[in-house]
Amino acid sequence: MKVRTIRKDKINVVTLGCSKNLVDSENLITQLRGNDYEVTHESADAGANIVIINTCGFIDLAKQESIDTIVEHAALKNAGKIEKLYVTGCLSQRYKDDLEQEIPEVDAFFGTLDMPALLARLDADYKYELLGERQITTLPHYAYLKISEGCNRTCSFCAIPLMRGQHVSRPVEELVQEARNLARRGVKELMLIAQELTYYGLDLYKQRELPRLLHALADVDGIGWIRLHYAYPSKFPLEILDVMAERPEICKYLDMPLQHASDPVLAAMRRQITRDETRRLLDRIRDKVPDIALRTTFLVGYPGETEADFETLLDFVEEQQFERVGVFQYSHEESTRAYEVPDDVPAEVKEERANRLMEAQQAISLRKNEAKIGRVFKTIFDRKEGKYFIGRTEADSPEVDNEVLVEAKNQYIRLGDFAPVLITGAEEFDLFGTVQR
Ligand code: SF4
Repeated sequence: MKVRTIRKDKINVVTLGCSKNLVDSENLITQLRGNDYEVTHESADAGANIVIINTCGFIDLAKQESIDTIVEHAALKNAGKIEKLYVTGCLSQRYKDDLEQEIPEVDAFFGTLDMPALLARLDADYKYELLGERQITTLPHYAYLKISEGCNRTCSFCAIPLMRGQHVSRPVEELVQEARNLARRGVKELMLIAQELTYYGLDLYKQRELPRLLHALADVDGIGWIRLHYAYPSKFPLEILDVMAERPEICKYLDMPLQHASDPVLAAMRRQITRDETRRLLDRIRDKVPDIALRTTFLVGYPGETEADFETLLDFVEEQQFERVGVFQYSHEESTRAYEVPDDVPAEVKEERANRLMEAQQAISLRKNEAKIGRVFKTIFDRKEGKYFIGRTEADSPEVDNEVLVEAKNQYIRLGDFAPVLITGAEEFDLFGTVQR
């Protein structure tokens, strides 16, 4: 029997950016542990002598955070606190040559699809048998499931296709096997993620196959909730909603970034949809799944956005009453189509518009939360904090949405369990309640 010896090197992986990057880090960690490395995730004091930073290159703020993190670790290397420093992920994919010049302390830079090369650099093999055996870094009862890589859309402001390439769907069988492995290890909730979720299957099966994938994942024992993130509104496959209405495992929740609601801005963004088409789509979605929670994201300050355009967006948010809204400020990204036009909306105007939109949403969110008082919601419990157990309803995705706070006094709740909660109080982004036994 081959005796496995843990290598003397210790590796700490640092992840920046989105949940898709987190899944890449988890796959990397799984491969490194499969090669007998001791690996930690995001723990600065684990005594690691090797650090791998998985960067984000999406927008200015994210890029700055990635550069600061690299520079911070370069200083640790210069101080002899770490021996080796490697950088991978989107920022590295996009700016490898510049970064090599500017931060020579980094031993090597790798692209978003270069894991085998990174492993080889660490004298490790890429172990195909570990595919689908991903070790998660999230709480043990929920996990992200990345169903595809890359994007074929051409949104004018977006640099993601430059960093992640064209759309590549993962086979249904592979995803189901990964979901089974995750469920076997206690995962009950899956967040389906991609750059563009609704495109699933068009490359691999020459047709949209998200409904088939959803049925197959809903059949996996132990998976109680499946949540859909990053759907694209144009040519939205309504069949998804039939599966959502039919299968209780598919959360009545949809994250669909809309980016804007003013037609001139939507056209300039190359979103292939108008405000009226969006309105009709949202009506169809709510008709088919009446109690659906809709999350969306808007981008303010796009080149040429007038006050009138912004007012149109604000009116649309008031009219549509989304359950969850995120707001980004436009970032002028090289090599995108939008980079060819002047970034003419001043930073302070972008900031002010983002704040006005979130203020409007805060009021909407409070009204919607108050309307939940007196009702009972199935809740999954994530953690205990101070005097509260903290959970989420079907309408709340981890880390981005609302939470449910239940007083811990005289209550015993096992983290990771589902329990019915009677809502007794509400704030803008939080609910309060008691467990119904
Ligand atoms: S769909 Fe999303 S990832 Fe794809 S280009 Fe548009 S904004 Fe970028």
